[in-house]
Amino acid sequence: MRGARGSAVWLWVLWIYVAPLCAPWLILYGVNATSPSVELVRGALPREGRREDRCTWACHNHGCSHRPRLPAVLTGDAYLFGGTIRGLFALGRAFSPDRARGYGAANLLVFCLLWPGLMYGLWVVFWRQRRALRALRAGGRR
Ligand SMILES: [Zn+2]
Repeated sequence: MRGARGSAVWLWVLWIYVAPLCAPWLILYGVNATSPSVELVRGALPREGRREDRCTWACHNHGCSHRPRLPAVLTGDAYLFGGTIRGLFALGRAFSPDRARGYGAANLLVFCLLWPGLMYGLWVVFWRQRRALRALRAGGRR
């Protein structure tokens, strides 16, 4: 019986603490590995031709002329998207006098560290509180 409990604890630890840290990287690697046109490790932004039917890196690098599929409050320059870009440029000034480098550093800080860190923290808190509430409902039994 003790072995089953130990296995359950290890599965819990894997699910709560390890899986959220490993899964995004595995998915990223899987997606990039199945796309032969995309280099896994890049030293610069990819150059790609413009296409009429969908966005490409050309839209990212030079501006998008496609009709947005999401509402303007999410995609418009005056709202969430534009505000986010302006915020990243503003934050980037704290890292580098070079506008592009500062923006890149801010982008990495916010979207690769702070936001995922917040989501990871909330994920862990959720599961720990769920376990604590279940223990309380069971009369303190664990
Ligand atoms: Zn586009």
